[in-house]
Amino acid sequence: MLHHERLRPPSRDYPADEWNVIEKAFRPDFLAQLETMLALGNGYIGMRGCPEEGGPNVENGTFINGFYEAWPIVYGEEAFGFAKTGQTICNVTDSKIIKLFVDDEPFWLPNAQLLDYDRRLNMRAGTLDRTVLWETPAGKQVSITSRRLVSLVNRHVAAISYCVTLLDAQAFVVISSEMATNRSGGRNNRDDPRLARAFPGRVLHPQTNYSKDQRIVLCHATQKSCFTLTCATDHALESSCSHLHRVTCTPDFGQVAYTIDAKPGCPIQLTKYIVYHTSETASSEELCGRAEWTMDRVRTQGFHQLVTSQEQYVHDFWRRSDVRIKDISEQRAKRSTVEIQQAIRFNLFHILQASARAEGAGVPAKGLTGQAYEGHYFWDTEIYVLPFLTYTSPRIARNLLAFRYKMLPQARARARELGHRGAIYPWRTISGEEASAYYAAGTAQYHINADIMYALRKYVQATGDEEFLRKYGAEMLVETARLWLDLGFYSDAKGGRFCINGVTGPDEYTAVVNNNAYTNLMARENLRYAAEVVESLRTAKAEAYNALMQKTALDPSEVNAWIQAAESMYVPSDEKLNVILQDDNFLDREPWDFRNTPRDHYPLLLFYHPLNIYRTQVIKQADVMLAMFLLGDAFSSDIKKRNFDFYDPLTTGDSSLSSSVEAIIAAQVGDMNKAIRYGMAALLMDLADVGGNVKDGCHIASMGGTWMMITYGFGGMRDDDGMLSFWPRRAPEENAILRFPVTYRGQLLEVEIGLDKVEYALREGDRLVIRHEKQELELTRENPRAIRPVSRR
Ligand code: BGC
Repeated sequence: MLHHERLRPPSRDYPADEWNVIEKAFRPDFLAQLETMLALGNGYIGMRGCPEEGGPNVENGTFINGFYEAWPIVYGEEAFGFAKTGQTICNVTDSKIIKLFVDDEPFWLPNAQLLDYDRRLNMRAGTLDRTVLWETPAGKQVSITSRRLVSLVNRHVAAISYCVTLLDAQAFVVISSEMATNRSGGRNNRDDPRLARAFPGRVLHPQTNYSKDQRIVLCHATQKSCFTLTCATDHALESSCSHLHRVTCTPDFGQVAYTIDAKPGCPIQLTKYIVYHTSETASSEELCGRAEWTMDRVRTQGFHQLVTSQEQYVHDFWRRSDVRIKDISEQRAKRSTVEIQQAIRFNLFHILQASARAEGAGVPAKGLTGQAYEGHYFWDTEIYVLPFLTYTSPRIARNLLAFRYKMLPQARARARELGHRGAIYPWRTISGEEASAYYAAGTAQYHINADIMYALRKYVQATGDEEFLRKYGAEMLVETARLWLDLGFYSDAKGGRFCINGVTGPDEYTAVVNNNAYTNLMARENLRYAAEVVESLRTAKAEAYNALMQKTALDPSEVNAWIQAAESMYVPSDEKLNVILQDDNFLDREPWDFRNTPRDHYPLLLFYHPLNIYRTQVIKQADVMLAMFLLGDAFSSDIKKRNFDFYDPLTTGDSSLSSSVEAIIAAQVGDMNKAIRYGMAALLMDLADVGGNVKDGCHIASMGGTWMMITYGFGGMRDDDGMLSFWPRRAPEENAILRFPVTYRGQLLEVEIGLDKVEYALREGDRLVIRHEKQELELTRENPRAIRPVSRR
């Protein structure tokens, strides 16, 4: 059930466009949304889409992935094993400010007379571009064009080109390029648990600061997490107008102010280079040195080279990842199809920006577009984002799984702390330690262990990266399997079946339950995969097997115990209704009074005490439905349909993670109307602010969900049984064709779903065997194409 209205900004000011997200008029009422939507990032640096002039802003923000401050979690009532240390991503030094004064008149968007305005997230170039024509109060016309980028190629680099031209008169111009470090601890957001906490005092403490010519370096450190941050800027001003500059540098502020005698028609071109370096171990001197090396390099390359390499990177990304939808019924592109195309690309582009250079870090729930959810990594990465990356950018997927391996020591320690064997991955974290202060919807979500292992299996299957599995994956599998065996037990009350009690599934409106079906099903998968991998190492890779035994002190009898637990796994169901039960007691709960719930009381979590929610049959997000999607082969269409019909009316979709999954199951059970309704909600989650909170950051999981919805839902893709197969349905729009590439074992396959036929084309690679409906197809370099009719089911 969908409870949200679409809050799409007026299309006159935000026109549909296939490659750009465009703001045609400056609208103060959409300031915060646009800050998120037009944010730039590369997975390491993130900058909200605030104007260059230092404002107006609602939530100005620059973030470095993994750069957080720690704080002691204070509980009113303590209990054993509660998470102790909170972690909040920092809003770091703002380096993008460029203020403009013409004849001493500041250029300030809200009161400027704008003759022309166009700002756009250019998803082909990977830049944020703006052109403005300003008439000063004295009647002089000033053209201002800027281009901002956060480099995908140079991980530590961002840059801005800012060009001012007086069109019809002489004027005295000042351009002040600034950088400023936040001295407050941020805003207090007590009402909404999803937002970041505020610190009582300053978070970034000055270490060193200096300037050399037009280069400024500011270095700060956090007190508790002991991170160091260096932010450096450097400048090049080109103009035939005469100019002077003055440099100011204090611990929290840097400025290069240019005073220019501007002649009509004579451009003033400022290029600002920005570098961020962060470290947990390096001294501030060393970090400043690193920043300077990077700066020397990019200054030598110049802005043009940064743009060119950015374009190449993005071009390559789209070659592997672009999902295209095209209307074929009309001559002119249909507006709704263009809107869908725009939304698809917007979602995929933001995933790129959230993950591309997240090396040694994860993907925060909001990417690097906002501080909400504190910059934490959740299961969102593995279940919603990794499928897309695995099939389009496997190297990034590998980095993210390697990051989970890096936090295995903390996961082991957490299991010990809670009295368990194996490892317990944190529900939410930056450092690797559990940062959730609410165990019922945090630590209790043990399913994250199985989610990570599920993503590992998909990754290995799609890439054939056995080396990763041997070196890192196997060890994670052993430790997660051990946890399940230790957490669950053989219950007499359930006929000796293996039960897992006291857990929370994905649906956070039902907490700490026995036998959450999703958890048990995914744990079963985890146990089976662990046994399978250990067994295959034992029989075929003696060296890797011995290394694994050493690292984990594995007793061979453990493997049999995993198999037994998996095969005896209890999955609750109700015979009368013929559905899987979300948990043992789901049906004992009172129905939620949907009829008397005001529309503006969603999401329920902001209006009702958790207990009122927990004791009723109301669901925040897909739970059983998600299991049916992820483990699709284990469920017949009939079972999927019955469960969809049962759970759909109870699901509020209060989490943005829900709609895409509901769309997939709806498509799989043939309810294309619902598939499209849910699909559009997921697709437009951020572009049309469906959840009403895009101001706080993009919903990266939902964005990844939209790719799954297109490929698995409408494209009918399957990969459960080790072979890539398709049972295509149709595009999410009448009379449209859908085309998407997938990388499988290093080969690039393109799938085009037409109105009554589907075409498979092997674009790169020698040979690939896939399945179309029930038939195997062999595609080779010599015979790369196969066309088949689509039988609509
Ligand atoms: C959802 C979780 C999700 C988190 C971060 C919550 O609202 O219920 O499943 O991991 O948001 O996106």
